[in-house]
Amino acid sequence: MKRLVILGGGESGVGTAILGKKKGYEVFVSDFGKIKENYKEILAINAIPWEDEQHTEALILNADVVMKSPGIPDNAPIVKKLIDLGTPVISEIEFAVQFTNALTVGITGSNGKTTTTLLTYHLLKQGGLNVGLAGNIGKSFAWQVAENKHDVYVLELSSFQLDGIINYKPHIAIITNLSPDHLDRYNYDYNLYIESKFRITKNQTEEDFLIIDNDDVEIKKWLQNNKINAQLIPFSLTENVENGAFITEQNLTSTINNDLFTMPINELSLEGKHNLKNAMAATAVSQLLKIRKQTIRESLSNFQGVEHRLEKVLKIQNVQYINDSKATNVNATYFALDSMTVPTVWIVGGVDKGNDYNELMSLVREKVKAIICLGVDNSKIIQTFSNVVDVMVETTSMSEALKIAKHIAESGEAVLLSPACASFDLFENYEDRGRQFKNAVHNL
Ligand code: ADP
Repeated sequence: MKRLVILGGGESGVGTAILGKKKGYEVFVSDFGKIKENYKEILAINAIPWEDEQHTEALILNADVVMKSPGIPDNAPIVKKLIDLGTPVISEIEFAVQFTNALTVGITGSNGKTTTTLLTYHLLKQGGLNVGLAGNIGKSFAWQVAENKHDVYVLELSSFQLDGIINYKPHIAIITNLSPDHLDRYNYDYNLYIESKFRITKNQTEEDFLIIDNDDVEIKKWLQNNKINAQLIPFSLTENVENGAFITEQNLTSTINNDLFTMPINELSLEGKHNLKNAMAATAVSQLLKIRKQTIRESLSNFQGVEHRLEKVLKIQNVQYINDSKATNVNATYFALDSMTVPTVWIVGGVDKGNDYNELMSLVREKVKAIICLGVDNSKIIQTFSNVVDVMVETTSMSEALKIAKHIAESGEAVLLSPACASFDLFENYEDRGRQFKNAVHNL
């Protein structure tokens, strides 16, 4: 019996444990932090041994294979020891995929993964496929494979998950875009992070597809310097591409294998150029999987959007309040500001991961009427924009930020929370920040 050790007792760890047990492995789960009660119960029901708040080496180093949860860095001592021993340390996706014949669509990129994954899932589901949703979202892939659920999976794949693949290949891969993120896990080397994203295509063959943002300089550069096997499907907002998606007049147009799809941009439910790109990527997948054009059109126009991503919360006295709490880097905020069509009171700040705010300068000049800083250290924001925006206020709580925003914003204008920063200084996470924003708006 082969011994499968799982590091990390969260969603992907517990899912892998269940699948491993079902497939006849001797399974052990070890978490250096605390395992949540509900997961402990599930492990107990399945008679899977576990430990938490420790890593007992004698129970781990004897593994034949180790599944490492994406949150655990490669330089964690226990991982280093396993690698030194030559033990394969893989990700949940790599482990689970060997037990399913389902077709997978793998989606990665710096921004837009969740939105594109949910949109693609929506299109394929509306198109009648027996499709599942997994990866960074919802119930783990391994768990669903254990339950033998779906013919097709749409997987949101972070670079950490891709670092742990050996043979996995998605039939259709998407790289939404590239901008520096999580560099602390890549020796502060942007190239290593880019390499990690492109691992999504490394096992693909000529029968597979790689969908990419053709306007992304880093993606283009990598493709010029490296060879891929998959068929390339580009999408672009700026030029007409062959075998891909682009804009003709006011239409999203996509020609895949001579199959032409077109739809007016103003009928898309999600606004903003970034969402147009996400829609192009999802459309390309749907065409490749032969979803009816009428269904693609309907689905793109009735997709509900995702919480905390340019989410319209409420209009109060004709001021639109928008929650973009998930914008944790400058690139995401760039697209949020770009999509604003009225003078905007911008709530920004938090823990900055080495931001260069100058990239936002022209948009701020054009669209931002006032800046409300919401972070412990706002000095960089103030320094960058103090000559550009007349009104700048520092706040330390969401309710305070919104009271001031309400005071400043006039009828016909907007208040946008798009922090360009992580949330850990004042909030638990971006969801907490977004929820506090929405509560505070409702209390205005
Ligand atoms: P991820 O899962 O990659 O973090 P999300 O879909 O959760 O991506 O979006 C994260 C943030 O980036 C949100 O603020 C969202 O509005 C913005 N965003 C979404 N799609 C894109 C894109 N294609 N390019 C840039 N920013 C995007």
